[in-house]
Amino acid sequence: MRQHFGQRVRFDEPMGRHTSLQVGGPADAYVRPKDVAELHHLLEWCRDHTLAWRVLGKGFNTLVLDGGLRGVTISLASWRTLSLEDDLVVAQAGVTHSAFARFCVEHERSGMEFAVGIPGLVGGWLRMNAGTREREMADVTEWVELLRADAQSAERVPARALCWKYRELELEPEIVLLGAAFRTTRAPVLEIQARLDAQLERRKATQPVNARSFGSVFKNPPQDHAGRLIEAAGLKGARVGDAEISPIHANFIVNTGHARASDVLELIEHTRGKVQAETGIRLETEVRIEGEATWD
Ligand SMILES: Cc1cc2nc3c(=O)[nH]c(=O)nc-3n(C[C@H](O)[C@H](O)[C@H](O)COP(=O)(O)OP(=O)(O)OC[C@H]3O[C@@H](n4cnc5c(N)ncnc54)[C@H](O)[C@@H]3O)c2cc1C
Repeated sequence: MRQHFGQRVRFDEPMGRHTSLQVGGPADAYVRPKDVAELHHLLEWCRDHTLAWRVLGKGFNTLVLDGGLRGVTISLASWRTLSLEDDLVVAQAGVTHSAFARFCVEHERSGMEFAVGIPGLVGGWLRMNAGTREREMADVTEWVELLRADAQSAERVPARALCWKYRELELEPEIVLLGAAFRTTRAPVLEIQARLDAQLERRKATQPVNARSFGSVFKNPPQDHAGRLIEAAGLKGARVGDAEISPIHANFIVNTGHARASDVLELIEHTRGKVQAETGIRLETEVRIEGEATWD
């Protein structure tokens, strides 16, 4: 791998560096392929060596456990091209939410303002069907470009042919999302900027945006809000080690110091248990939990 990827592979890479909660053990190999051909080669190589692999975005919705990630962890964070095709904003999987917002302002494109405060990369946005009460990725995506592990080349799939669910784009195993096109309309810059500012202000007032967190811990159950249920169970401010249920928003766990993934996991289970005992509702995690609990 070193011969092939040079400095684009790191071994025993601490995942605290690549996740917003800044916890988690090391990835055996953390690889940043430079293009589709190299990604394809890497997936083939993993298959030939029966190695597990996964893709990680910016880790804004992922809890990596303390034992870390076996096999190969792939990052497309250097795939950052943005372009305009008529009314479509076309973004590669590694485009950040902030670069996306800047591009929309510069090119007077409206329609994606809901997404500016959703931190992460375009690949993560798509996989999580990220969204707000107003809209989600399923509503604005025209097509998705993806690579199947057993295919030679990428393919473009119309978004309507994919299986979008609440906070999830259901995919067959072994698919890497390479990018997508999002529908927008033309609007005056000042209008777009005002909507972006309003979104960010609303978030600052209601979420611990400057703390180390991974966004919503639990999905909202039908007709209710996970944050409301957790707050009603008296859990705001509850702690295990340095992991704390945010006093600002009960559906966020923040790392107040040197939390371990095991602290976070224990707090998640404690919360789930208490809410279930009091309401009968079993909360389902939105955050993706990856890796091994202990390091042998
Ligand atoms: C302060 C804060 C506020 C947030 N607010 C919101 C919100 O309002 N709405 C919302 O929906 N979310 C919210 N989130 C959660 C998070 O921002 C989103 O889920 C975002 O889409 C995660 O992107 P990411 O790149 O960090 O994904 P990651 O956490 O890195 O990955 C998420 C999942 O996607 C998979 N994945 C990533 N890239 C690819 C790819 N290229 N191909 C295949 N699979 C891939 C990963 O394997 C993983 O399973 C918030 C988080 C924080 C910290």
